[in-house]
Amino acid sequence: MKGSPEHSAAPRPNMLLRKSDHHETRRLGIDLGGTKIEIVALNPAGQIESKHRFDTPHQNYDRILDQLITAINWIDPEPQSPVLPVGIGTPGSRSTKTGLMKNSNTTALNNRDLLGDLEHRSGRAIRIANDADCFTLSEAIDGAGADNPTVFGVILGTGVGGGVTVNQKLLSGPNGIAGEWGHNPLPLHRLDTDFSMPLDEGRACYCGQTDCIETWLSGPGVSHSYGLLSERSLPAKDIFASRRHDSLAQKVFETYCELAALALSGVINILDPHCVVLGGGLSNAAEICDEITRRWHRYIFSDQIHTLLLRAQHGDASGVRGAAWLW
Ligand SMILES: [Zn+2]
Repeated sequence: MKGSPEHSAAPRPNMLLRKSDHHETRRLGIDLGGTKIEIVALNPAGQIESKHRFDTPHQNYDRILDQLITAINWIDPEPQSPVLPVGIGTPGSRSTKTGLMKNSNTTALNNRDLLGDLEHRSGRAIRIANDADCFTLSEAIDGAGADNPTVFGVILGTGVGGGVTVNQKLLSGPNGIAGEWGHNPLPLHRLDTDFSMPLDEGRACYCGQTDCIETWLSGPGVSHSYGLLSERSLPAKDIFASRRHDSLAQKVFETYCELAALALSGVINILDPHCVVLGGGLSNAAEICDEITRRWHRYIFSDQIHTLLLRAQHGDASGVRGAAWLW
């Protein structure tokens, strides 16, 4: 069962938009990743009409721009008037201060005016959002969170990101970082006293802080945890997949779910979302939602927990779908 042990139907205001309110026309979405560029055309019903993948040129901004233009021309070779706009999900985000890209691990994008350059080159209106924001938007509009007025979307992958939607619109603040949950500190001192695991506190994060949620809940974080117990190096997905016959892997998984429950309690205490949707490679682990909701009542400041914890419906396609939904 998904949701907390005390789950029952929470009141849900009847204010959500229908698909037809959103989407009168085809829309184009691009997921600009570190190794691939995926582009789709969605029809007004939200179905993927066509899609294609291109390689992302390695750390060369001009060639990345060329490839994005190639992708747009491939999917919409004979543009009709009005020209279809394009939404793009990117690693990192666009600075609201300078308009330039920042925090992208595709570092060739950083300090570049991707939005302006692409609008100039393509002759189309462009919208850009962080890839975790696109994921959340996709799942909130017609994915796992579609019936929920507020959705917190979580990517558990190479990194840990998040996004927030309210009534199927992205929440964005003056700093453009709403949902950037992965670089909050994990409050390890609040772990339930009945829960005992060897924890190497003080994990350094690339952002300069220590014990960011990402250092514990990302794929590399899981590999690190397993390495401490087993002195073996394995990818996170292999660790989670082997837990039926590997007691150390099972221990790492249980620790992971306890820490995820602790980390999510901070979000729920502040935002009180109707629904949390998990995406990214680590969210594919069997029973992860049940294991987290079984534990999070220890940390959430409430006598009842109606918050749903759901796995993403659109999987890897959520990012590119959400990019299309930016319009
Ligand atoms: Zn950090």
